[in-house]
Amino acid sequence: MPACNATYKLAVRFENWRKPGHHFYYPFEQMRSVDGLPLTDWWLKNGRTDRFDTDCFVMANICDAERSPRHLSGTMLPQPYDEGTEEPQGLTMSEHQGKTQFPYAYHFEAALLAKFLTTYTVERGAKHIIDDVKDVKLDERGWISSVVTAEHGELTGDLFIDCTGFRGGLLNKALQEPFISFQNTPPNDSAVALQVPQDMEARGIRPCTTATAQDAGWIWTIPLYGRIGTGYVYAGDYLSADEAERTLREFVGPSAADAEANHIKMRVAATAPGSTTAWGSA
Ligand SMILES: Cc1cc2nc3c(=O)[nH]c(=O)nc-3n(C[C@H](O)[C@H](O)[C@H](O)COP(=O)(O)OP(=O)(O)OC[C@H]3O[C@@H](n4cnc5c(N)ncnc54)[C@H](O)[C@@H]3O)c2cc1C
Repeated sequence: MPACNATYKLAVRFENWRKPGHHFYYPFEQMRSVDGLPLTDWWLKNGRTDRFDTDCFVMANICDAERSPRHLSGTMLPQPYDEGTEEPQGLTMSEHQGKTQFPYAYHFEAALLAKFLTTYTVERGAKHIIDDVKDVKLDERGWISSVVTAEHGELTGDLFIDCTGFRGGLLNKALQEPFISFQNTPPNDSAVALQVPQDMEARGIRPCTTATAQDAGWIWTIPLYGRIGTGYVYAGDYLSADEAERTLREFVGPSAADAEANHIKMRVAATAPGSTTAWGSA
């Protein structure tokens, strides 16, 4: 975590999605059961409130209190077993030091994570080459046999993983695999991102990614140690890049004044607002 300016992520916080000023969490925590019935049923029976999340999930309350999933001593906040059961239920619970723990994730600074993993793998024998792939060679079966690079010539291999991102250099270009677009659902095909230095001691660190509803999409806010990663994911059919950048800068405030905007055009595959993988990168 220190090597990647990482922070804890217990949930995604949705702000202004239901109405202005309202927020709720989508935690990684699993729905609990009592007397064989999930809390949802008890919540519906006992009279719903406008905070289903804090009524049914411990982690939503931890997020509102802006706390980590660990005590200052480093010990985990144990997740109690469901009443009347000896065994932890479901998939998302994990064992740690003989105790069940609430599942959680991390926010990493993506570039530092890549550096950390590079050091980790090179120390264990991996050979790391930085170069541009100029061409991809296929064998008689149509399988990739090698890649041709700008500085290191032809590199052969047994397994090739396409890490070229939106470009799909190996999958979509060399192997002609069709890209299944989800361009219309949702229509968000653009983003503008800012990296904004912040005094986290003064500001505090929310243990969650925040997705704040906007007219043409949402603004994500990811707290890292020392800065926030933020951006506006929007539908280019409804908002121009300049308007999106202006809205984002107004939202962040004066601390965004010197931050350089990174405008991104996306190829959209299936995903959900604020969810990423089990880790958040910014
Ligand atoms: C607006 C936006 C917000 C996001 N927010 C989050 C988030 O909060 N949390 C999260 O977990 N994920 C987030 N994601 C998703 C995350 O960014 C991607 O899942 C992740 O970057 C994919 O990693 P990748 O290594 O596959 O591709 P990329 O990160 O796109 O990296 C591909 C790399 O390949 C290089 N490359 C391409 N072609 C060649 C070539 N021919 N030769 C050499 N190099 C080449 C490119 O230069 C690039 O560096 C977000 C994505 C977008 C667009």
